[in-house]
Amino acid sequence: MREYQIAVLKGDGIGPEIVDEAIRVLGKAGEKFGFAMHCHYALLGGCAIDETGMPLPQETIDTCKAADSTLLGAVGGPKWDSVPGDRRPEKGLLGIRGALGLFANLRPAVIFPELRGASPLRPEIIGDGLDVLVVRELTGGIYFGERGRRTVNGAEAAYDTEQYSVPEIERIARVAFQMAQKRRGRVCSVDKANVLESSRLWRATVTRIHDEEFPQVELSHMYVDNCAMQLVRNPGQFDVIVTSNIFGDILSDEASMISGSIGMLASASLSGGKAGLYEPIHGSAPDIAGTGKANPLATILSAAMMLRYSLGEAEAADAIEAAVSRALARGRTADIASKELPVLSCTEMGALVCECL
Ligand code: NAD
Repeated sequence: MREYQIAVLKGDGIGPEIVDEAIRVLGKAGEKFGFAMHCHYALLGGCAIDETGMPLPQETIDTCKAADSTLLGAVGGPKWDSVPGDRRPEKGLLGIRGALGLFANLRPAVIFPELRGASPLRPEIIGDGLDVLVVRELTGGIYFGERGRRTVNGAEAAYDTEQYSVPEIERIARVAFQMAQKRRGRVCSVDKANVLESSRLWRATVTRIHDEEFPQVELSHMYVDNCAMQLVRNPGQFDVIVTSNIFGDILSDEASMISGSIGMLASASLSGGKAGLYEPIHGSAPDIAGTGKANPLATILSAAMMLRYSLGEAEAADAIEAAVSRALARGRTADIASKELPVLSCTEMGALVCECL
């Protein structure tokens, strides 16, 4: 039997509720597909502050580094809003991403056919559903470049610098091509090469990595302004989109909103190796914590991404995604309720996904 060691950070608010359901679904998938998950629980965020005084204890970093991969719920809440800035729950989140060297952020924008009505896009644009993966560079570019203030022609001015080195572009390009190989085999690299020198280096480097290492993947290039338009005009044309930190920040939000519901959106952050950090994109939803109303599907879909991208269990990942789709046809949590279907609690939704699996 294949065995995996998983670090599990439940976090705060609805974190523990949604993570419990994802673990349950992973357990069921393991029974069906012949692998065992060993969970190693650690503290992150507000619960870590309560227990240790710090949002990211060293023990948590060690647990995640020793594991094959990490599953995270969500952190934060009003209880810790008055904690000083450097010890806020969100610091723990940034800290763990940094400690694990996560330079690639993956956000799938998926519209399940059952949830077509929740998308702001018209049905004829969505067609039979949608599945786009945005791969965003996470640790370089203008958010980390040189910045400052100076005087220009006697007036105050400010500047930020977009800079990418060849190795930074190469490693994110490889992630995108590898993802495409596990999907429909197409990468669209997004830049602004008609204006920006950094984009010209980006385009040349992505093209070279493609030609040398991934010739079997289909590569295209698109300017970012056109991509923003194409995502709402004809999103079905995309499989994997790879782009810089700032363009990815904007495009991944745009892409994820076309799916319509925050409780459905999964994400992954990867380093060079196989290990990654998998989490829903929503927060700890303190307004509904403890009421059983949380939608666990974003976390369950994050767990499916972990199976596909970190653990090489693509068949189990496909089966979980198909089970989520079937579950959506039989019941809904309150955030995506439909008049014709029963409203389920968080645990009932987890149980239904297991049953559909
Ligand atoms: P949020 O995502 O927690 O909630 C926004 C709204 O969406 C709320 O009405 C909430 O009830 C609803 N919602 C979110 N997830 C849901 C789910 N799974 N099922 C059903 N409804 C869901 O954002 P917020 O209210 O701005 O932030 C709350 C706390 O979470 C803050 O402390 C914030 O800092 C933190 N936060 C953490 C993360 C993270 O851990 N990655 C991300 C964003 C916000």
